[in-house]
Amino acid sequence: MSILNLSQSVQNSQGCPEIRDILEAYPQATEAYNRAVEGLATLDAASFNQAWSNVEQARKVCESYRERLLHHRRDHGCLLRSVAR
Ligand SMILES: [Zn+2]
Repeated sequence: MSILNLSQSVQNSQGCPEIRDILEAYPQATEAYNRAVEGLATLDAASFNQAWSNVEQARKVCESYRERLLHHRRDHGCLLRSVAR
């Protein structure tokens, strides 16, 4: 799902605060992940391990939002309803 589709979903699902929170936080989490990955290129060897652990942490945050989105879509149905309109 692209960022454009995500923001469209935010527009269409304003009746559901939970999915709105997820859809607002998920792109921010992916941006943080991108920044962490980009930071790897500017490091010396000594700080690589710490930077890599930051990347892994950011990736896990992204995955947790992805999981919440998938579970919410399956269990709550608010996205399906808004798309069907
Ligand atoms: Zn919902």
